[in-house]
Amino acid sequence: MKLICIGRNYTDHIKELENEKPTDPVVFIKSDNAILLKKQPFFIPDFSNDVHHEVEVLVKITKLGKHIDKKFAHKYYDQIGLGIDFTARDVQKQLKDKGLPWEKAKSFDGAAVIGKWVDKSEFSDVNNLNFRLEKNSSVVQTANTSLMLWKIDEIVEYVSKYFTLKIGDVIFTGTPAGVGRVVANDKLKGFLEDRELFSITVK
Ligand code: ZN
Repeated sequence: MKLICIGRNYTDHIKELENEKPTDPVVFIKSDNAILLKKQPFFIPDFSNDVHHEVEVLVKITKLGKHIDKKFAHKYYDQIGLGIDFTARDVQKQLKDKGLPWEKAKSFDGAAVIGKWVDKSEFSDVNNLNFRLEKNSSVVQTANTSLMLWKIDEIVEYVSKYFTLKIGDVIFTGTPAGVGRVVANDKLKGFLEDRELFSITVK
């Protein structure tokens, strides 16, 4: 399975990293080695001094599809989740400056937290979901999916032009503002509409 990630999908986060507002979604892939195993701590890799949390709403693909029209996109996912796209910001910056791919900064072991899944039917509108990340019990990132530049169904349409979506693939829909460095002993908890979907310790 693959993890398809969207970058720069919230205006406030584009501003904080001083990125240009994209005309198309920024898309990258994390490979399955990046998935943080259940109940495991997140270990900061030794090649980075600036690993950032990025909390993101997740979508799990439940049906094979390619060239999916946004009108039908909702038929390709049944569950919504929350996770973290851990990013070695220092490594990413070096790679970006050279115009090189980002995998070393984004797809290292443990860099993808996937929390518990919630049936989409439990929500009245996936485009109006509050979510937040708490670090050591303080809220560090908070947003609502209505603030996405590209909504979930538009993302499914866009990425399926390039990649066949397979059962079990996960889409990371982008992070809002508030990204920041993690250090050893930080405790990170993610909430989607006040349901706690993950809790991890940084080592
Ligand atoms: Zn991200």
